[in-house]
Amino acid sequence: MQGKILKEHLKNNHRGISCVYQTMKRKFYIPNLEHLITETINQCETCKLARYERNPVKLPFKETETCNGPREIFSMDIWMPTTGVNYVSCIDRFSKYATLIKIKDRSWLSAKESMFQVINIMGKPKKLIVDQDACLTAECFKNFLTKEKVKVHIVSSKTGLADIERFHGTMNEHIRILRIKEDKENIDEVVEALKHYNHTLHSTTGQRPIDLHLQDEKETKNKVNKSKWVEYRNNKENRKDVEIDESCLIKPSRWTSYRNRRHG
Ligand SMILES: [Zn+2]
Repeated sequence: MQGKILKEHLKNNHRGISCVYQTMKRKFYIPNLEHLITETINQCETCKLARYERNPVKLPFKETETCNGPREIFSMDIWMPTTGVNYVSCIDRFSKYATLIKIKDRSWLSAKESMFQVINIMGKPKKLIVDQDACLTAECFKNFLTKEKVKVHIVSSKTGLADIERFHGTMNEHIRILRIKEDKENIDEVVEALKHYNHTLHSTTGQRPIDLHLQDEKETKNKVNKSKWVEYRNNKENRKDVEIDESCLIKPSRWTSYRNRRHG
């Protein structure tokens, strides 16, 4: 069992206890599963090292604008894994699916170019929420988005972008662990960390970002609309579930004799 736990823990770059538990409880029915997972993961040397230098940022939970499906609202920000290296980061508010585009400078042209790539990878949102970064709030960039029929909303505080801040925190943690790991894969650590992020259960949705993002938009909307339609019709036509008292029903034999009498 410990082998299976370790395999799950390592599959997406040393995932935490609750994440491994959420995934494994769907497959295994063992009473002390959570305890076993806690013990196994707490013994992981790589994680011990990573915890040592960890200082996570904790942001308050805040109710955010709701959306019913993927590709409705994206949040966008600039992420710097190391000084001098800039990425445009973008996350879907519904699915939590995210992408990172490396930019050579923080000009509005670079922002526009990365927006094209974001659309290619994630699809086009109805609305884009951006941080007060100069390149993301430039008039030229806003005009470009208006032409693309994407509404822009600029937030003044970081709490308005809590989901993207959390994403950056998770990415930093993945990268820290990737740097400690001994059996390094010979690929860009940001690309590898991003893959792990999108394929790991997200704590707020309980789903993998990739699965929610690839889910058909129509399918989600149809489910919502169908239940609304049923509720509307039931209310309008005053349809209610009732108990049927069978003793009140006319028995077929009596019904036949009654009809025969009338027409006979
Ligand atoms: Zn570990």
